[in-house]
Amino acid sequence: MNDTPPTLLPGVESRRPLVIAGPCSAETEEQVLASARQLAAEGVRIFRAGLWKPRTKPGGFEGVGTAGIAWLQRVKRETGMYVATEAATPAHVEAALAAEVDLLWIGARTAANPFAVQEIADALRGHDVPVLVKNPVSPDLELWIGAVERIGNAGIRRLGVIHRGFTSIDRSIYRNHPMWAIPIELRRRYPQLPVYCDPSHIGGKRELIAPLSQQAMDLGFDGLFIEAHRAPDEAWSDKAQQVTPRALAEILRNLVIRETSVTTENLNELRAKIDKLDDRLVELLADRMSVSREIGRYKKEHAMPVLQAQRYEELLARRAAQAVELGMDREFMRTVLQFIHEESIRQQMQLLEKE
Ligand code: PEP
Ligand code: MN
Repeated sequence: MNDTPPTLLPGVESRRPLVIAGPCSAETEEQVLASARQLAAEGVRIFRAGLWKPRTKPGGFEGVGTAGIAWLQRVKRETGMYVATEAATPAHVEAALAAEVDLLWIGARTAANPFAVQEIADALRGHDVPVLVKNPVSPDLELWIGAVERIGNAGIRRLGVIHRGFTSIDRSIYRNHPMWAIPIELRRRYPQLPVYCDPSHIGGKRELIAPLSQQAMDLGFDGLFIEAHRAPDEAWSDKAQQVTPRALAEILRNLVIRETSVTTENLNELRAKIDKLDDRLVELLADRMSVSREIGRYKKEHAMPVLQAQRYEELLARRAAQAVELGMDREFMRTVLQFIHEESIRQQMQLLEKE
């Protein structure tokens, strides 16, 4: 997954953000065509529409299925857009590929199931189609990477991921918590893998699409995957998180795209400052560890237990309060100290193990 990836689709500009937009579900031929025409008029090049819809409970609208394939083919013919749909089973893959759907994505519920992903991967083998893998519903980076690897191992070269947020027990304004640290870590490990953000499914409300899209751009994501519908309030699924093609265009126009490649004198100076501070931090940590080992020797001589819970709690509370006074976050400081303390304890335990 680490070599330079081929472009997703020929002729689609690589300038950020690459936009994939369209309704959550294909509902009727008229709704698909009208949504697509309006999006094409706003400059969108890749049209999404779900034909097979994974619904939480039975009885809801589960998608029009293969009946919608002909509608996507009309979109291709009449607007020149590329078309994309979700594939959750080998039968979906086969039907979509036979109809020349240009791009497939794997949904969040499917990505969470390695058996399902493997079956899809097997169905994709021998085909050259771009595939985007949504994050699994649970905040499990390894499971996400595993799904991408299964598709990659089937020979799919045009691979990317879609960050659509994670199920969380925390109450929050989001439908699916963004937990940005997870896609950021994915980026760090696979810098060549394109990452798209799905602010519709993260936010669950159309008002959150603009701020989430801006955040994704500020974090260097490659593109956006947004639900847009001719008449969002009439949508048969996910109506609260869809926008009209015109509103989508407005959101895109207002995005501020900061380019990462520009480094100014000023930035270099600031980076040099950070490097110096990091030098001092590492030296201080080394000094602290050496004192901690001395304490360990003392504890050993006096047959004292390594973990002094009360002292640890006091230290955490005092430094967390100090951090807040200095304008830092309490939880951040507690986390840093927990790591340092863990290493101190490890080193003191090692002294006990010796001889
Ligand atoms: C979708 O994109 O419409 C969809 C079903 O998304 P997710 O798999 O992220 O829930
Ligand atoms: Mn949806």
